[in-house]
Amino acid sequence: MPSAVAAMKEAAEKSREIVESGSDRAQSHRVKQLEKLDAQIRVCTKCPLCESRTLAVPGEGKSTARVMIIGEAPGKQEDESGRPFVGNAGRFLEHVLEGTGLSREDFFITNIVKCRPKSNRTPHSNEIETCTSLYLFKQMALINPELIVLLGVTAVKKLLGMKTIEEARGRIIKHDGGKYLATYHPAVRFYREDLSKKIHEDFDLLKKEMKKLK
Ligand code: URA
Repeated sequence: MPSAVAAMKEAAEKSREIVESGSDRAQSHRVKQLEKLDAQIRVCTKCPLCESRTLAVPGEGKSTARVMIIGEAPGKQEDESGRPFVGNAGRFLEHVLEGTGLSREDFFITNIVKCRPKSNRTPHSNEIETCTSLYLFKQMALINPELIVLLGVTAVKKLLGMKTIEEARGRIIKHDGGKYLATYHPAVRFYREDLSKKIHEDFDLLKKEMKKLK
């Protein structure tokens, strides 16, 4: 499997060259490319998840966001609204962010796969492979975030190649040229209340790290 960053670079090398020039033209190119991806995602039929979805959920936030948040997959409310993290897990995410003085507008928020797996099952590896190579890596290359927050083990496995959250959390990880902070998926809080303290700790670290961004 090519590394995430290698795939990102390959997928959007042309876009990145223009974006890195930092001009108005670069910014408008970046917005247009993200809109184009958004439109492609909304009508995508490249994997079986398209058969059961209501709406695809490309993600949302500023194209200039310095930090990206990547979850696993849309849930029921996300599938119905076309927006990421708007259900129970999203409300908990917003609550944790509020505690650190941050808000969802500070981020570009998306998921590993853009369509809801039936009954919220974990996405299959072919679905993850298809969706990340066609869409997520291109979004990452265009936004070019200084820090990437991974929520849950599906994102940690795919982007860091690690097997557990325990292995990844509580620190900043430099991997393949990117900077990552990993924590538990916010939905874990509904069946493992004891982990919510750890999520709060990880977001305190996020706040500290965000203060250091140029
Ligand atoms: N869980 C996720 O991983 N992503 C969402 O958008 C909502 C719930």
